[in-house]
Amino acid sequence: MAFDPANKIQDLQYFGEFGGVNPSVSDSSTYTFLSAKTMFDTFEGNTEGCYLYSRHSSPSNLYLGEALAAMEGTETANVTSSGMGAITSVTLQLCEAGSHIVSGRTVYGGTYAFMKNFLPRFDIQTSFTDITSPEKVEAAITDKTRMIYCEAVSNPLLEIADLKALSEIAKRHNITLVIDNTFSPLSIAPAQHGADVVIHSLTKFINGSSDCVGGVVCGTKDFCLSLKDVNSGAGMLLGSTMDSLRAASILKNLRTLHIRIRKHSENAMFLATQFEKDGMRVVYPGLESHPGHDTMKKQLNPEYGFGGMMTLDVGSLGKANALMERMQNDNLGYLAVSLGFYKTLFSAPGTSTSSEIPEEEQKQMGLTDGLIRFSIGLDQDIARTYDKMKACMKALGV
Ligand SMILES: *Cc1c(COP(=O)(O)O)cnc(C)c1O
Repeated sequence: MAFDPANKIQDLQYFGEFGGVNPSVSDSSTYTFLSAKTMFDTFEGNTEGCYLYSRHSSPSNLYLGEALAAMEGTETANVTSSGMGAITSVTLQLCEAGSHIVSGRTVYGGTYAFMKNFLPRFDIQTSFTDITSPEKVEAAITDKTRMIYCEAVSNPLLEIADLKALSEIAKRHNITLVIDNTFSPLSIAPAQHGADVVIHSLTKFINGSSDCVGGVVCGTKDFCLSLKDVNSGAGMLLGSTMDSLRAASILKNLRTLHIRIRKHSENAMFLATQFEKDGMRVVYPGLESHPGHDTMKKQLNPEYGFGGMMTLDVGSLGKANALMERMQNDNLGYLAVSLGFYKTLFSAPGTSTSSEIPEEEQKQMGLTDGLIRFSIGLDQDIARTYDKMKACMKALGV
């Protein structure tokens, strides 16, 4: 049977200290030792199962990390205080002064700003390439390239990476392939298609209630341990640690992810299909008209669908803004960045989450002014939502 990430989460069994059905929360920053020798050995990383200090690791963070590793099918995982905390620590662990990165050109705005504006201070340069073309990715590689980085489904243009093709290139050149899977949890399991490291912003679909920020790095034991090394680990030394209480609450939300993702996908597919029939410029990987549709299908866990993210180009920024305000007034969702909430969220990426990208480059990659990015919610009656959205559009001449 095919790899099913939700089964892997379901099959984990953790009890609390008193037989509780949830694991106990570790509400401590530091841990006592019966012997000074054990404390020294733990510091040196030689005692598995001992806890030292919660920036290094804590039981609650390990529970959440192991559940996410099970979901992605990697050996283990480290949770972090945000998605950016995962992305920056992985990058700085893999790269040093003089290193080079090949990155997708449509990536999350914060990731783009980090690579474009921040890393050059440390003499780390990035080539931003069209990730849908394995030939262009391979051509951008130099003898200094340490990391190929992209999103499985990209923000905000929903381009689809061919993970198998990219992993073959990465292996041929002995480079680490890092995939941000924030837009497609469960739907795609990148490590099953050759990714070395899988990152998520837990802030989005995985937590799903827009009440916190968090991140995770899923990978091999060696790599995750190296991130936590007290002397040289970017995760440990840069300090992007998740709080234990938050790890416990995200773990509880993770358990319903498979039900939520199915509904997000079903609703997004319904709206995208309708809008396409109406002749609108809609982008959704579940539509056959999407240039990455076949690639996504090839690497999809079909039960979970093509995800909850969709874009609609309504022609101009003025129209996009008017439509978003109107939809919010009619309670169809919120004009807000982020994704994965029970309500639909919408924003104009050119002026919000991708505003770090210069206008000229936005044009080049097809990020137009009239583009609205939707994170489709868990609406019970999506046909009713569609009718209400159409009424908003009609009233505004969109
Ligand atoms: C939100 C997001 C991030 C950053 O995550 P934070 O939790 O906000 O730090 C990274 N990648 C993608 C694709 C995102 O959507």
